[in-house]
Amino acid sequence: MKPEKIITPASCQDDHDPASLPPAVALQRIIAAITPLADTEKVGIRQALGRVLAADIISPVNVPPDTNSAMDGYAVHNSEVPVEGTRDLQLAGTAYAGKPFPHRVVPGQCVRIMTGAVMPGGTDTVIMQEHAEVHGNSVRISAGTNAGANVRAAGEDIALGEKVLNKGSMLSPADIGLLASLGSGEVNVTRRARVAFFSTGDELRSIGDTLDNGQIYDSNRYTLYGMLTRIGVDILDMGVVKDNRDALRQAFAQAAATADVLITTGGVSVGEADYVKEVMEEIGSINFWKIAIKPGRPLAFGKIRNTWFFGLPGNPVSVMVTFYQFVQPALRHFMGAREIQSVSLWVPCISKLKKRPGRVEYQRGILERDAQGRPVVRKTGAQGSGILSSMSQANCFIILPYASGDVEPDTLVEVQPFFGLV
Ligand code: AMP
Ligand code: MG
Repeated sequence: MKPEKIITPASCQDDHDPASLPPAVALQRIIAAITPLADTEKVGIRQALGRVLAADIISPVNVPPDTNSAMDGYAVHNSEVPVEGTRDLQLAGTAYAGKPFPHRVVPGQCVRIMTGAVMPGGTDTVIMQEHAEVHGNSVRISAGTNAGANVRAAGEDIALGEKVLNKGSMLSPADIGLLASLGSGEVNVTRRARVAFFSTGDELRSIGDTLDNGQIYDSNRYTLYGMLTRIGVDILDMGVVKDNRDALRQAFAQAAATADVLITTGGVSVGEADYVKEVMEEIGSINFWKIAIKPGRPLAFGKIRNTWFFGLPGNPVSVMVTFYQFVQPALRHFMGAREIQSVSLWVPCISKLKKRPGRVEYQRGILERDAQGRPVVRKTGAQGSGILSSMSQANCFIILPYASGDVEPDTLVEVQPFFGLV
């Protein structure tokens, strides 16, 4: 007898979905769709911190401009340094940083020199003061200093005509210091993106409101505010929009008229009141993706007129995960940055982690040192997508790959730190 065809419904124990998109593919599609901003502006180098450089920077000068001493000591010509024993030299004067010794040093002479002082003519080597003995006007130097030692050559940091910074660099504190060392007070950067966002949900209340039954405070607008501020975009907080077609239509139209990018949270799953999807389909061109990640599976990406749109899930942790994995790189790309993804590293995980194959998981971790001083990571505890305190306690994501199952203690895992020397 022919067995009856058995249809197995997707079990709630197994939310693996073969139709869902790998996160790397979703990010590739987003990046491929978005053309970077072409608008640039000139800003002072302090204001340029964190901004994206609009053109390569070619050095107009040598840094340092002059060959100078790397320490306090005595400037000599290398032929004066004895091969063995000592030699007595006549002290001709002193060279200070910013106050060079004005004469040429002749054979048999040396000059007292301070760190950063220009090397006097006729000298090329600095004897550390620990290797010299002063007797009145005479300096006894000992053997053992190599020719050219303790001297910083003109242009050794940056040579005239050298490319010092690449177009697309996000300017760091070192970069703006470097620009200052070239004497550049201003620099061309791409303009900041204008990013609007609003929360959707009838249950959401703002700070200062009292909560009725079933209501909660809107936290997503605050995490978004924080994450967007760190990226350095102009922000337009549009508040909470009700789960109502007309209100959503109006909010989308307003955002499309003013912003380069709109981010919404909530309303993109398949719940009864999830109108974001419906309204978006009506007024924009949108993709609704199920991404093979946890948390943060549903994600909408598309365009309303000239405004890029990201519809993030509503759960607070999902918002942060999808923001960091998709929106942050997309915004960096949009503003012309070359490096758009955050760095990760591999460290041993000291907790046991529960994980099902079939999706990439972004668990919340604490990167720390163990008793031996070795960097390790442990999980923060409860990992639900609504548990924002797990993000607050965490200082990194533990990224578990698609195929991985449970993780046993002391396994090397990929970690993406929230912090950095930024
Ligand atoms: P949704 O995606 O709209 O179905 O929302 C999923 C979950 O996230 C629900 O429990 C919402 O109450 C919650 N949520 C949605 N938006 C916010 C928000 N702005 N702040 C805090 N929780 C939210
Ligand atoms: Mg909702």
